[in-house]
Amino acid sequence: MSGRRLPQLASIPVTELRGIGPKHAAALAEAFDIHTVADLLMHYPRRYVDRSNEQRIADLAIGADAMVVATVKRIASRRTRGRPPRTLVTADVTDGSGYLKVTFFNQGWRERQLPEGTECVLFGKVDDFRGRPQMTNPVVDLIGDRTGRIIAMYPQSEKERLTTWDIARWMDEVLERAGTFAEPVPPAVLRRWNLIDRTTAYHDIHRPETMADVQRARSRLVFDELLRMQLALVGHKRRLATEAVGIAHDTSRSDGTLLARFAGSLPFTLTRAQQRVIREIDADLSSPAPMHRLLQGDVGAGKTLVAVHALLAAVQGGYQGALMAPTEVLAEQHLAGVSQLVSHITINDPDSLFGSRPVMVAVLTNRVGVAARREILSGLADGSIDLIVGTHALIQDAVTFAALGVVVIDEQHRFGVEQRAALRDASGGTGVTPDVLVMTATPIPRTAAMTVYGDLDVSVLDELPPGRSPIVTRWARPGTLDEVDAWARVRAEVAAGRQGYVVCPLITESDKLEAASAEATFDRLVADGGELEGLRVGLLHGRLKGPERDAVMDAFRSGRLDVIVATTVIEVGVDVPNATVMVILDADRFGIAQLHQLRGRVGRGAASSSCHLVADATTPDSEARLQALVSSTDGFALAEIDLDLRGEGTLMGTRQTGRNDLRLASLRRDRDWVLRARDVAERLLDADPSLANDPVLAEEVHAMLGVDATESLFKS
Ligand code: ADP
Ligand code: MG
Repeated sequence: MSGRRLPQLASIPVTELRGIGPKHAAALAEAFDIHTVADLLMHYPRRYVDRSNEQRIADLAIGADAMVVATVKRIASRRTRGRPPRTLVTADVTDGSGYLKVTFFNQGWRERQLPEGTECVLFGKVDDFRGRPQMTNPVVDLIGDRTGRIIAMYPQSEKERLTTWDIARWMDEVLERAGTFAEPVPPAVLRRWNLIDRTTAYHDIHRPETMADVQRARSRLVFDELLRMQLALVGHKRRLATEAVGIAHDTSRSDGTLLARFAGSLPFTLTRAQQRVIREIDADLSSPAPMHRLLQGDVGAGKTLVAVHALLAAVQGGYQGALMAPTEVLAEQHLAGVSQLVSHITINDPDSLFGSRPVMVAVLTNRVGVAARREILSGLADGSIDLIVGTHALIQDAVTFAALGVVVIDEQHRFGVEQRAALRDASGGTGVTPDVLVMTATPIPRTAAMTVYGDLDVSVLDELPPGRSPIVTRWARPGTLDEVDAWARVRAEVAAGRQGYVVCPLITESDKLEAASAEATFDRLVADGGELEGLRVGLLHGRLKGPERDAVMDAFRSGRLDVIVATTVIEVGVDVPNATVMVILDADRFGIAQLHQLRGRVGRGAASSSCHLVADATTPDSEARLQALVSSTDGFALAEIDLDLRGEGTLMGTRQTGRNDLRLASLRRDRDWVLRARDVAERLLDADPSLANDPVLAEEVHAMLGVDATESLFKS
């Protein structure tokens, strides 16, 4: 096998290149996290200037989009009078055929960017300024002295003084010195999907002759990224299924079994979706291979019950169950939910006085005191605790289980693959892998799930329990009658004996600032003349101690408070069916998924509910987000919109396997390529489970995705 391999380039620091000394290397690292020649090679152009589309200024048509290449003749800036005053930069540019007037609003830096004599590319809509052509706020590219029909424009950094032509120059050297690349993908796969070879792909993404070259190069490189990721995920999944020794749980539900009693104790009948998902889970649980399943379900779909069923299946066979939450607040809320669901059932126990005993449930977080903690640890070790709810404190070294059988992880996108692995290791030296169910309340699109949770099987709770009224969502701009209506609605609901929530502006920098802001909001709302004056209002934020928070929640649940003013601590798990109205302040600061979660705190009973988003739309994106919430209450539909609006950045955010390797691929744009890569990965691993016959590919998956992601794939 000859040719350059990516892992080789990943071991060469950029300082090996002629043009790059320590200063540029530091700038590249700071601005783009580029350290090696491979990193630089994968610093792909942000866009391309196609000079074959270039037009002469003399030929510009008013009203059309156009691209011109011209030289700045004159540029000046001034402040406008209006309120607020704005900076207005105007320039005259020419290409020899005529003059074009260019106007920039609020972009004072353009004067520095475009000194007289600069050659630049301008894209924009042509309008008429007193009989002359003009562009307002065009896209501007500086091409320097670069020639060629298509010019790659790289992400640059003004702060680190890295220009697109610096990067282009270094890229030329990278491409030249890299030479021919080894081909990791079998030729049959390339033919099947009509993919070009890798050497051409790297060349053409950086130095295309035509835009069609760019498309072909992009497809090939996107495929490579997704294939690496799918190989790691599918490989991981298979390795676990074949190698790990799991537990064949007893999921029978004949009379008198724990699961039968649990089903009989519920005050309602299961939805069809719950029944289906429980069947899927039971099949996994009763098989000797360990379960690795993702449970997706919209807010309020009834995931808790499904989770408790799975945990009790462990208990029924003499094992223990663990439920892990991403935060202490959520762990405590889950404790309440789980305890309530199992409070009516008992476990057969010939040793106890009455022949049966309650299900023992405990909580373990970092808030548990030393003495209590010691007691819980011994209960877990000797098996006297059946179900444990906790945070990552559960997977610390000191925790040993007598026989951990089922683990439910309430993920909220906050746990990674590594934590799951650690939990498996905590299973008490028994050598068996517990069954794992990952729950997420944020539905994600199928191809995204395949990437983010690609090592799991997926179950979907796509049906809400009956008797819920849809939530009416309104967008109220601050200071308008709509906002007045929103508060009036809160007071009307309270007058009718209902309750409500006010969600405070999101402040991400610090818990402390957020708490302070929540306090200020609370004070303002309850003050004389405030919107909630005279109502019984509680305050809830992350800085409150456990008992204080419990007191507020208890008061709200029992109806002694009308309204809770809260930060996002109420996002998940709070379940008060009598709450029918929510006001979210500065709603434009939240993402779609988070707004949907928050909104899910109302509409949990039979009475109709409303949610009021108080916000100015500060950007087109925030306008689109708010509109999406107003027009849909379907979490999956919202997830698709979210993916379209934001790309996958946040989806991939804190999780994952190979997040650093997706540079070009977009889970949104490249949905089809995700499916193809999945298919190819499955076929390759069917034929050759450890990729022994494709060493270049195997090496590359390993090098690009990191050891964690692939250790189980290439362990042997
Ligand atoms: P999720 O965790 O999926 O957001 P929960 O498990 O908290 O949803 O359930 C939301 C509410 O619906 C809870 O009050 C729960 O008791 C109730 N519930 C769950 N399943 C059913 C059902 N089949 N019929 C009626 N109510 C249900
Ligand atoms: Mg829940």
